Amino acid sequence: TPPDNGKESPPIVKWRPGRTSAAVRAFLERPPVDREIEDRARAVLDDIRRRGDEAVLEYAERFDGAALTSRRLRVPARSVRAAAKRVDADFRRAAREASARIRRYAEAGMHGDWSVPTPGGGELGERWEPLDRVGVYIPGGEAPLASTALMTVCLAKAAGVAEIVACTPPDEKGQINPYVLYALDLAGATEIYRLGGIQAIGAMAFGTATVPRVRMIAGPGGPYVTAAKRLVYGEVALDMVAGPSEIAVLADDSARPAEVAADLLSQAEHGTGSEKTLLATPSHELAAGVRRELRRQVGGLAHRRAAETVLERGTLLAVTPDLDAGAELCNQFAPEHMELMVRRPERWAKKITRAGALFVGRWTPESVGDFAAGPSHVLPTGGTAAFFSGLTVDDFRRRISVVRYSEQDLRDALPITDAFGRVETLDGHARSARSRFPRGEEER
Ligand code: NAD
Repeated sequence: TPPDNGKESPPIVKWRPGRTSAAVRAFLERPPVDREIEDRARAVLDDIRRRGDEAVLEYAERFDGAALTSRRLRVPARSVRAAAKRVDADFRRAAREASARIRRYAEAGMHGDWSVPTPGGGELGERWEPLDRVGVYIPGGEAPLASTALMTVCLAKAAGVAEIVACTPPDEKGQINPYVLYALDLAGATEIYRLGGIQAIGAMAFGTATVPRVRMIAGPGGPYVTAAKRLVYGEVALDMVAGPSEIAVLADDSARPAEVAADLLSQAEHGTGSEKTLLATPSHELAAGVRRELRRQVGGLAHRRAAETVLERGTLLAVTPDLDAGAELCNQFAPEHMELMVRRPERWAKKITRAGALFVGRWTPESVGDFAAGPSHVLPTGGTAAFFSGLTVDDFRRRISVVRYSEQDLRDALPITDAFGRVETLDGHARSARSRFPRGEEER
């Protein structure tokens, strides 16, 4: 089957390094923010800063259709217990096992304090401290993301954070999905609020009478949440830009079209319609087979409409001269999720330098990363995997650098403090270092 260069959907196009057509460029480019959405988010945030709870409640009604009072914003413990009773035993087992895996991975990846000796007998190092109060956002638009509750809160818990606030949008009756509530509680959230979108981010960042402010906000979201997070950066710490999901698959002719298509659809079904999926392969036959399978399988999905939108607008099947070129295209895309469905996948894994998460080989579909494996599924999107990393336990901690000098270390540093003090016209700096030594004694 020859590439049709974009006549059918999803398009099969030829790509080679240095020859990027306008269509492929349009696919690769994901503007990090939509200016209109950012303007709206700014106006809503300003209002929340001024009017607190009153504004938050108005926006909850306007954007989520939920008529709440400030007393109902926080989910009481009895509602959390009631939710647990509505959750089936199979899910409870799965959630317990998943949270144990996420916790183990977080603990294994946690950086320890360290120090090195200085030549004069002192010490240099770093010490880690957990943040005392953090906020996590659990999206609630199209799908009840119970897994996201685990993939954020379990890390904060492993980091030793004492107060873990969670916000997730309510339905029109003001209710939160019981599975999400159960997962938040299981993972160790200490406060849960019925708040979504910009109003959740604003309340957590600025604080209101009902929602005391947090120090850091983590978690994914749709365009409104992502825009709002960027606007509160600096008032709170943030994890990253974790927007609409993406997947790229690098495959050779050993891959099975039905499996590749299923994996692409697993990210197309998220529901906002702005998700993106890419196949890079040297095999025309595979690309054609994947397209047939995409069309066949999409009809059977619960979120069929959303997935169809992504197949029409956000999917590219690229035929490259060889696998090296395919890997280069994937690196240019810098996807959130990167799958390798090739012979000797470990070898190709080394060639992928920009991705949020790597899934190596046929037995590692991306969905295990979403639900079961251990690393957080909160990952950079929109091309930001070229400079951001996924959420880790250390995002919920701070580093403090520690310097302990001996008298000799300070004496050795005097020429440096003197020289910089002179050049920067900050003679007070130089004098402060010299003040420890009576005149002439520092030459020893
Ligand atoms: P969401 O909770 O981010 O958005 C819904 C909220 O947006 C609503 O509660 C509402 O308050 C607000 N909103 C909706 N329309 C609005 C409007 N016109 N004006 C102002 N506010 C409005 O959930 P979502 O939109 O379904 O997004 C979830 C996204 O998160 C998906 O794209 C999914 O792919 C992504 N995701 C990403 C990761 C990751 O790590 N990158 C992980 C999980 C999910």
